[in-house]
Amino acid sequence: MQILDGNLVSQATRDELKIKVAQLVVEGKKIPHLAAILVGSNGASETYVASKVKTCEEIGFKSTMIRLEETISEFKLLQIIERLNNDPDIDGILVQLPLPKHISDEKVIHAIDPEKDVDGFHPVNIGKMVQGLPTFIPATPHGVMLMLEHYKIDTRGKHAVVIGRSNIVGRPMSILLSANTNPGNCTVTICHSHTVNLKEICRSADIIVAALGRPEFVTADMVKQGAVVIDVGITRVEDASKKRGYSIKGDVLFNEVAPLSSYITPVPGGVGPMTIAALMKNTYSACINNN
Ligand code: NAP
Repeated sequence: MQILDGNLVSQATRDELKIKVAQLVVEGKKIPHLAAILVGSNGASETYVASKVKTCEEIGFKSTMIRLEETISEFKLLQIIERLNNDPDIDGILVQLPLPKHISDEKVIHAIDPEKDVDGFHPVNIGKMVQGLPTFIPATPHGVMLMLEHYKIDTRGKHAVVIGRSNIVGRPMSILLSANTNPGNCTVTICHSHTVNLKEICRSADIIVAALGRPEFVTADMVKQGAVVIDVGITRVEDASKKRGYSIKGDVLFNEVAPLSSYITPVPGGVGPMTIAALMKNTYSACINNN
């Protein structure tokens, strides 16, 4: 069994970007600039945005963090996005999800200029991804693909089971794994809360991507010997033994599943850091495309 080390692969990607940004500086060209919008004060969202901004600094990107009150109106938020769309210095815009109930995720995602949509959630970019055209690929599935590529995991002809069909993780993941690319060329089954016989389906998987947000859901009896197991889940679970009062759990019962698997991602330190690395790659591409 080999651990797929997201920290290591993410660092390699970030080091590569650092060199590319230094080159832009030498050439007197524009450096990438990411604008991150955080609405309200959700603990997990705060952590994600802070770490995205910190990574920008580490690589040498510019970043602008826009913190907005939980009560901001949808109209006001759309106006801010419009301003960022029209600002030539901003290359990438991300709005941290989830948004408060009174704001439509859909309206906000649709308002971002597709050329600056570094999260890759805009329907134009999703459409391009489905057709295999160059575009911004949603950061988490993109990060998983970078990890498979880095470890040269053979995916061709394999049966991949993706648990979860959200627009930001499961669905794009299933499309990328089924694409005529390397990694890719899998035969994909996508599962969700209405799937019957999930255990049996998982047991037939060469590759499992668990992205359902149910801590330790995937157990040993769902995994065949030698499977590749990618755990996307991140859930904060109350834990009085921790100073911060919670621990982070993935969707896979790691201790039980790891001995069966050929490769497995830990949580934390697996897909999470890869998501940030992929976002940075998208931001770099946005800057190069727009200038
Ligand atoms: P989501 O929007 O809540 O989607 C969850 C999906 O899982 C849905 O399609 C749902 O099915 C399915 N599901 C729920 N319970 C199930 C069950 N018992 N059996 C089979 N399918 C089930 O979640 P998400 O945004 O995709 O995120 C999934 C997880 O990934 C979360 O833990 C999230 O925190 C984590 N995440 C991690 C990263 C990272 O960087 N590592 C990034 C994004 C998200 P229905 O469609 O039928 O409801």
